[in-house]
Amino acid sequence: MRYDFHTHTNASDGRLSPQALVNYAHECGVTMLAVTDHDTTAGLEEARQVSESLNVQFINGIELSVSWSNTVIHVIGLNIDPESIPLMNGIQTLESLREERAMKIGELLHKHGIDNAYQGAKALAGEATLTRSHFAQYMVEKGYVKDISKVFKHYLVRGKPGYVATQWASLEQAVNWIHSAGGIAVIAHPHRYRIGTAVMDKLLDEFRQLGGQAIEVVCSNMEPKQISRFARLSQRFGLMASTGSDYHGPHQNWNGIGQLADMPESVKPVWTCFE
Ligand code: AMP
Ligand code: MN
Ligand code: MN
Ligand code: MN
Repeated sequence: MRYDFHTHTNASDGRLSPQALVNYAHECGVTMLAVTDHDTTAGLEEARQVSESLNVQFINGIELSVSWSNTVIHVIGLNIDPESIPLMNGIQTLESLREERAMKIGELLHKHGIDNAYQGAKALAGEATLTRSHFAQYMVEKGYVKDISKVFKHYLVRGKPGYVATQWASLEQAVNWIHSAGGIAVIAHPHRYRIGTAVMDKLLDEFRQLGGQAIEVVCSNMEPKQISRFARLSQRFGLMASTGSDYHGPHQNWNGIGQLADMPESVKPVWTCFE
């Protein structure tokens, strides 16, 4: 078995259609797959159909944007019912927040000599969740900046001219929406948050108390030391362990899909819930 519980399609900021993503994951040897687009379930139906035709076990997923203690945290819902009303309402709230933020980003970028960024990002996103990645893609395609990571570094992160702070869902809301949809709540890519060990403990403690069930212990680009650290934290806080590449498409300079490190023996893998 090969697992990947964190992937993106062009329903949010991935570059592959759900069909192409599932085909690619299958080629890479993935046998149990979750699609987890940002704040949307729009790609799940297509991905499920293709997965079934390839005998890939498919898990409905989502990656929710959360604001917690001045930090943006991503919480993944696995095995969710996309038709759940509380979840659908939550998604709608996040979509409006994204729309408001995008207009503000467009205005800020305009003041810094970048024209039509809102319209450009919106056109690239189409029906998809409107993300900072679409702004980055627009600015690279228009020749303002050489590559996507430079756009983030110089424009789209805190302290830079195109950054707009947003109050996303609370941790409690996100966990509740996922639970209402029958899903398992998972803290995504814990190694990427710029928080110290005490604050990480506080996050995991609060998450656990709200009923959160799992944490990503294996992610693309994690050092073995980080995997061990999050395996220990998963045990300490009684959280199951998930694994995911956060694949967004061939434009990324790394490709974790089907190439993730083995799950440490010490943890309870989240896939035991799906077998
Ligand atoms: P958003 O949810 O709209 O704020 O956008 C967040 C997305 O931007 C993440 O899911 C990543 O896909 C992408 N992203 C964030 N930081 C970077 C970065 N430094 N380089 C490239 N992509 C990034
Ligand atoms: Mn993304
Ligand atoms: Mn994320
Ligand atoms: Mn992601």
